[in-house]
Amino acid sequence: MREEDLEIAVKVVIVGNGAVGKSSMIQRFCKGVFTRDYKKTIGVDFLERIIEVNCEEVRLMLWDTAGQEEFDAITKAYYRGAQAAVLAFSTVDRVSFDAIRSWKKKVEDECGEIPMVIVQNKIDLVDQAVVDADEVEMLARELHCRLYRTSVKEDLNVRQVFQYLAEKYLSQL
Ligand code: GDP
Repeated sequence: MREEDLEIAVKVVIVGNGAVGKSSMIQRFCKGVFTRDYKKTIGVDFLERIIEVNCEEVRLMLWDTAGQEEFDAITKAYYRGAQAAVLAFSTVDRVSFDAIRSWKKKVEDECGEIPMVIVQNKIDLVDQAVVDADEVEMLARELHCRLYRTSVKEDLNVRQVFQYLAEKYLSQL
């Protein structure tokens, strides 16, 4: 096999409390759709999409927790070999914001220091926000993570999250 045929594949885990929009984000990024009643029982471990980073093709594999987080039962297999992570919370769910620190710790415990971002999803519901912008920025600074504000529903900033993670991962190789 020629060296240029070797492709770069990156396993990305998307963690956060239930209902913050993780599955929807994966669907949006990999299939370009938003479905309100998207079922978690999609029967696959991950969806993938190829993006370009510095003229190289990178295959991103986005792993869905498939609802395991609701029972605090995410398996080791979910985290195994993950090379980047999204820590997601919802603009309208205070508890999900308060859980970000512990999600980061879980990822570090299982995967070590890998590129991570904090994602504040559902910014289309900003009128009903239960977190203010300052405290979110403070948390991102404290945890040394870049922050993205997304609306999976309105397709705002979703691509940027994964582009950044892929670039960060590649820059370490
Ligand atoms: P998960 O449990 O974290 O995987 O969350 P889901 O992807 O199942 O989403 C939970 C609910 O939030 C679903 O009804 C989604 O349609 C909805 N949702 C996801 N992203 C957004 C968003 O950006 N804005 C709004 N308004 N709803 C969203």
